[in-house]
Amino acid sequence: MSTKTNCELCGSENNLTAYTVEPKDDTVTLCETCLASHESPADNESHWHCLNDAMWSEVPAVQVMAYRIYSRLGNQEQLDMMYMEDEVKAWAEEVLAAENAEPVRDANGTILKAGDSVTIIKDLVVKGAGFTAKQGTTVKNIKMVPNDPTHIQGKVNGSTIFIISAFLKKL
Ligand SMILES: [Zn+2]
Repeated sequence: MSTKTNCELCGSENNLTAYTVEPKDDTVTLCETCLASHESPADNESHWHCLNDAMWSEVPAVQVMAYRIYSRLGNQEQLDMMYMEDEVKAWAEEVLAAENAEPVRDANGTILKAGDSVTIIKDLVVKGAGFTAKQGTTVKNIKMVPNDPTHIQGKVNGSTIFIISAFLKKL
């Protein structure tokens, strides 16, 4: 049971809840604001200045929360400064990896998988390759891009290129 009287991330005393830091059973005490916005922290970015203190906590569950929030914010500078045991870092990464395994969707929201065939729905200038991938081009046997649900890889004009999934339609 948590006996904390302040949010362990921001110190607030408002509507405290014991939040389970999955996949472990450890809990952190979170205020209303931290609880509501830690999963999409960019919506409340200024609130997370509080992590400047929380990131130095000696409590692993608090470190995990800070690490996940900084990761979701894409704040690599802060992540690089954090000191965490390997085991604690692996705990933090576990949920993030699952989040990053977000499905890749085409222009219609249809989920794309490796091996699918797609058609390009608008002319795309391929930077560095010196050609335009024309609207209507079929790309067969696409591949996923690790940790990036916004792109796929596919062969066009004999070159393997990255294509924004929103400019594709599954065949
Ligand atoms: Zn808080």
